Amino acid sequence: MQNDSTYAIYLRKSREDIETEKYGEGETLARHEKILTTLAEKRNLHISKIYREVVSGETISERKEMQKLLKDVEDEKWTGVLVVEVERLARGDTADQGRVSKAFKYSHTKIITPVKTYDPDNEFDEEYFEFGLFMSRREYKTINRRLQRGREISVQEGKFVGNIAPFGYDRVKLEDAKGYRLSINQNEAPIVKEIFRLYSFENNTINSIVNKLNNMNLKPRISEEWSISSVKDILSNPTYIGKLTWNRRKQKKKTKNGHIIISRPRNQDYLIYDGLHEPIIDNKTWKLVQEKRKQNIPKVKHNNVIQNPLVGLVFCEKCGKPMQRRPYNETNNPATLICSNPKCDNISSKLYIVEEKIIEALKIWFKNYKVDYKSKASSNSNNNELNEKSINIAKKDLEKENAKLNKIYDFLENGIYNKNEFFKRSKVIKDNIESLENKLTEYNELLSKSTQLQNEKETMIPKLENIIDLYYKLETAEDKNVLLKSIITKVTYLKTQKAIKKASDPTNFELHIYPKLLKS
Ligand SMILES: [Zn+2]
Repeated sequence: MQNDSTYAIYLRKSREDIETEKYGEGETLARHEKILTTLAEKRNLHISKIYREVVSGETISERKEMQKLLKDVEDEKWTGVLVVEVERLARGDTADQGRVSKAFKYSHTKIITPVKTYDPDNEFDEEYFEFGLFMSRREYKTINRRLQRGREISVQEGKFVGNIAPFGYDRVKLEDAKGYRLSINQNEAPIVKEIFRLYSFENNTINSIVNKLNNMNLKPRISEEWSISSVKDILSNPTYIGKLTWNRRKQKKKTKNGHIIISRPRNQDYLIYDGLHEPIIDNKTWKLVQEKRKQNIPKVKHNNVIQNPLVGLVFCEKCGKPMQRRPYNETNNPATLICSNPKCDNISSKLYIVEEKIIEALKIWFKNYKVDYKSKASSNSNNNELNEKSINIAKKDLEKENAKLNKIYDFLENGIYNKNEFFKRSKVIKDNIESLENKLTEYNELLSKSTQLQNEKETMIPKLENIIDLYYKLETAEDKNVLLKSIITKVTYLKTQKAIKKASDPTNFELHIYPKLLKS
């Protein structure tokens, strides 16, 4: 799961919509777009893309935008997808629905509708989702189990059971039996051969292969460009030596092209069967590549890149030690935030949830701050007025005293005052002048301080407003961290109840946020 939350909107007309449009209901997609963008605004969701399905096809294969959406969902591009109702995503046959469900589930992508948010990480929601979208959960499971058993038998027979053939092959229907087999795709197979050749005999790195393919404008099937992972997938797929695998892709709870794939590239825990299809790669090349891959499996990266946007900000409410990010390398689970003190029993949470809550709290606090600031600002300006009045009075008094002093000099010169009288009188006046001058400096200092404070706050408000808008647009955890630190001194975290069920509230924790501005 990525930390930066971005959302997409998917728009599609149903058959019924086309009917109602005829009766002057207006343009459905535009209407839905308005509904969903308003929803996004209300919830502060940053929309990065809108998929507009112009055709009204019910199955995924008819819907180009849906295919793109599914691919992006599988690539974990979106935190959530907004639709007017869940049925907009899938209503066709069960295979389609299953694909949609899996794609969202394994990529932990939320489905957001105006009435409900479906969170695939929440078991209860999943049930709801499957129920609403497909059928009862139990029925679904039974059918799925039966389906899986049937599929495994098919794989043992060398049949291809996936929906989409691996790059280099096409899926063709068997003439004499039920099911499908793979058949070499003459356009794609040479590219597969080239990838294996570049890697095994030309000593290229995967990265340089990616660059070469992209420079030669040899395109993969769906995406515009080759990526490291797509080349890695090809280099480690035994399909190319005529094999079929079962469960090879089970561990990684992530889907790609409708298949679940594993996160560990060298998982040995799968079954291999001979396929009915012809190999593209010979065994010698295959072995060479696998040997080389083994040697080049990257070591654990030791980089100093900050991955925790909350680093140095969140502290344990119980023991005061900093809260740390703990990633899950093996599984696809999002990282947690855990107390760095091993003896402490403060319960951890998913980091992204804590992060979301902090931003949410900042938003609320900021709203109140703005209101509070306005009332304070008016009382502040009253204060300033009083201050200025006092300054004016003091100035006038000072003038008077100076005039008096001038006068008694005259009195002394004219012989009205003798020296003794003069000193007595002038001392009183000089004391008055001194105290008035002191007052004046004090008033002036007060005035400039309060003006400065007001200026600071005035520039702070747009700054804060920007921060909250900007936060989810930032790409690196480091940038987010810097931003947060510019407005927060620290946050304390406390969670006392363990989540027993998956369905228990993941936001069941307490945060105390210490914003920098509250002092003044
Ligand atoms: Zn602690």
